[in-house]
Amino acid sequence: MAIAATDVSKDRSQARQKRMIADHFDKLEHAKETGKKVVYTFVPGNLTELIDALGMLPVLPEINALQSGMRKKSAEYIAEAEKAGHSEDVCTYVKCDIGMLKSGNVSPTGTRLPPPDLLLLSYTGCFTFMKWFELLKQEYNCPVVMLHVPYQADGMITDEMRRYIVDQLEQVVIPAMEQVAGKKLDMQELEKRLALSAKAEDDLVAVWESARHRPSPIDGYFGGVYYIGPIFSAFRGTEDAVHYYRELREEVTARMATGEGPTTPDGPTTNEKFRIVVEGPPNWTHFYDFWRMFSREGATVVASTYTRVGGLYDLGFRHDSRRPLETLADYCLGCYTNMNLPSRIDLIEQYIKRYDADGFLINSVKSCNSFSVGQLLVLRELEKRTGVPGGFVESDLVDPRYFGKANIDNRLQSYFQMLEGKKRKGAQ
Ligand code: SF4
Repeated sequence: MAIAATDVSKDRSQARQKRMIADHFDKLEHAKETGKKVVYTFVPGNLTELIDALGMLPVLPEINALQSGMRKKSAEYIAEAEKAGHSEDVCTYVKCDIGMLKSGNVSPTGTRLPPPDLLLLSYTGCFTFMKWFELLKQEYNCPVVMLHVPYQADGMITDEMRRYIVDQLEQVVIPAMEQVAGKKLDMQELEKRLALSAKAEDDLVAVWESARHRPSPIDGYFGGVYYIGPIFSAFRGTEDAVHYYRELREEVTARMATGEGPTTPDGPTTNEKFRIVVEGPPNWTHFYDFWRMFSREGATVVASTYTRVGGLYDLGFRHDSRRPLETLADYCLGCYTNMNLPSRIDLIEQYIKRYDADGFLINSVKSCNSFSVGQLLVLRELEKRTGVPGGFVESDLVDPRYFGKANIDNRLQSYFQMLEGKKRKGAQ
């Protein structure tokens, strides 16, 4: 999710994000000397403002896994985990994380990661989260606390669901966190951070909305994974994140004014030919190859579900400092991983229409049942509802064995040719 900034773009915001990530890993490396407590937790449903208000530092194992994938380290970590008995069918984020731990817990940026003082399991829809922390529990001698988030089985959030989460926060989660932190939660500190979160969320939504413009000044999938970096990870609720999203919004607005498209691995683009919505996580081991298969064809991703996995702000949700625990509950309940299939289909349909997409593409990831289940049904239903043609490719998150470059490239080329033909026909 949050990925270390590379030289894809020299934007100020990207340089800032790079500094923020480096500082965070530096703090983690020195956590034991500085007495900072470390909390391992997951991206969807993360309680970053709470962790931060208690003076602790988060570690997000999924982010370490995807960064290891981008840095070509994941294959050896997965092999390490498989050697230790983890099956080929297990989510590769988990195996990559376990392999990294077995290899010395050196983070993808090269700094050493401290062991957790607390495993904070915020459970939002994916059963693997639970199994993952069961495995980490066997490796680390530290407490585990779980926040159980009820699944949105009926596609809605009820008062009872919200109350159930708030009760857990008050009676179990916050006391457990206070014990590890060695201090009481200061509600004003939490409220301050929640207000900062909402500011950053406003700017992020403006960035997503810019994709309605033609040409879109952003790529809402490949570029989008950079944009979600700070807000989905350690920085939501910080001044740094507020500055980052303000800068990003300014940069995007400036590109829109000059008619520039998104920056791609091959530089800035202006030739928007196809507007695509993407469902499913990206492949990280061949991220730039995958991106080029789109940018080379003039295909810009105008919206994606993956960039909503850690918070669906464009549907209107903002963290609300006036109701701190309820707002944390609503945030967890509303994560994409916690939404049922009909709601996911509604959301993608909305994106196809709102962003005036020419097509939608599903990247079905072998590892991730939470995303992959029902995707062929999703494809058929969306084609029926919108009349927009769908494409389907298969890959994996961080296991390079499941990225068939030629096969995916062929499929995408055929798909874009089909879209081209459809456009030509429509123009006649
Ligand atoms: S199965 Fe999917 S949602 Fe679950 S932990 Fe793995 S990547 Fe995340």
